[in-house]
Amino acid sequence: ISSVELTRHFLDRLKQEDGQYNSFITITEEQALAEARAADERRAAGQATPWTGIPFAHKDIFCTSGVRTTCGSRMLEHFVPPYDATVVAKFRQAGAVCLGKTNMDEFAMGSSNESSHFGPVTNPWGLTRGERRVAGGSSGGSAAAIAARLVPAATATDTGGSIRQPAALCGVTGIKPTYGRVSRYGMIAYASSLDQGGAMARTAEDTALMLNVMAGFDPKDSTSIDREVPDYTATLNEPLKGLRIGLPREYFSDQLSPEMATRIREAVREYEKLGATVREVSLPNASLAIAAYYVIAPAEASANLSRFDGVRYGYRCDHPKDLMDLYTRTRAEGFGTEVKRRILIGTYALSHGYYDAYYLKAQKVRRLIQQDFVNAFQEVDVLMGPISPSPAFIQGEKTDDPVTMYLEDIFTIAVNLAGLPAMSVPAGFIDGLPVGLQIIGNYFEEGRLLNAAHQFQ
Ligand code: GLN
Repeated sequence: ISSVELTRHFLDRLKQEDGQYNSFITITEEQALAEARAADERRAAGQATPWTGIPFAHKDIFCTSGVRTTCGSRMLEHFVPPYDATVVAKFRQAGAVCLGKTNMDEFAMGSSNESSHFGPVTNPWGLTRGERRVAGGSSGGSAAAIAARLVPAATATDTGGSIRQPAALCGVTGIKPTYGRVSRYGMIAYASSLDQGGAMARTAEDTALMLNVMAGFDPKDSTSIDREVPDYTATLNEPLKGLRIGLPREYFSDQLSPEMATRIREAVREYEKLGATVREVSLPNASLAIAAYYVIAPAEASANLSRFDGVRYGYRCDHPKDLMDLYTRTRAEGFGTEVKRRILIGTYALSHGYYDAYYLKAQKVRRLIQQDFVNAFQEVDVLMGPISPSPAFIQGEKTDDPVTMYLEDIFTIAVNLAGLPAMSVPAGFIDGLPVGLQIIGNYFEEGRLLNAAHQFQ
């Protein structure tokens, strides 16, 4: 099959089916077909990489040269970047065919993909039961599009769970690499010390192929790590005999629905059959993760989002009276409710007199949380647990209560505070709704995670 045929197939599916899911913000049909034609020529010339001619999509947080990049916000509704994010450039060099940009929570703030200026994403699995359920967030567009087979793979980002949770809720595979493994250059910043780009696809093998392209040092990202990138597909078939699995006691508490706990334990039993050993471990400070994250992330967001001032780029209000009016009306009109809430929390936490009480304190807690993981990895190779407390919920169910929404991140957020790699792997269903198993690894152990996930699939 040629890349042009393959690309047409997915473009047709996208145009016919995406009305019900709203998983894409922009479809780049013309560019995709041009890229597919170029890929077919490259293949004929014997210069193909594994990605040459393969259709995929980018989360709309990655800057794409000449293609509008909205970050799910009215603020950037008409923003066309003049450059590519490093991740985008890498897929381009590999010859992959980008079908467009996937929907997301505004500025990646959310766990349900209901805060997008371009409307919510609907979970394909919910629709099979006739219900409008959330796709998870913030990379809900990428997850729903893969689940609905509109695209075989998509990039995503994870600041507090945004790859793993939507992957879990939509029944696809997602990997959040170690902080620094994938360049953040050109990835619109939310909380810079937590943000990490990663991969989503149907299988671990496909995400390994994605990571082979995405990972690596980038001099344009000051927190990018200069360390060799292994071939992540080379170790997929290693036997799991002797793998030491730790189950964090705190992740099987009453926050977890009993059905979810059963599914996760069943998945872990499969690993025992493959020769792994299982023991309980403790992450004593796990209960502090949400509180620390929801100080640190908004604080960093409030600083990062100060650049949207109506002067340099993005939305600008009509007929400003003076500079102050320009700033205030631009930001009042350009940002949605959740983004404003985060900016207010973050600005407060960083303000004079409160910095020590909130931000500094949260950073100290962050270190304790990281130390818990360091200790756990003295005893085990990987940690396993749930991704979300329950399967995909009904749209609108949690929108009135931000704190309930924040609790959705209870099992994912500590990983970001520690900078560790982690995956979400499909692990069965509850009442026809997908469940994700979380596998957390030590720093730079993406290969081990992908191996474990692949053996399970
Ligand atoms: N749900 C979390 C938040 O709203 C995480 C989002 C993310 O990982 N981008 O901040």
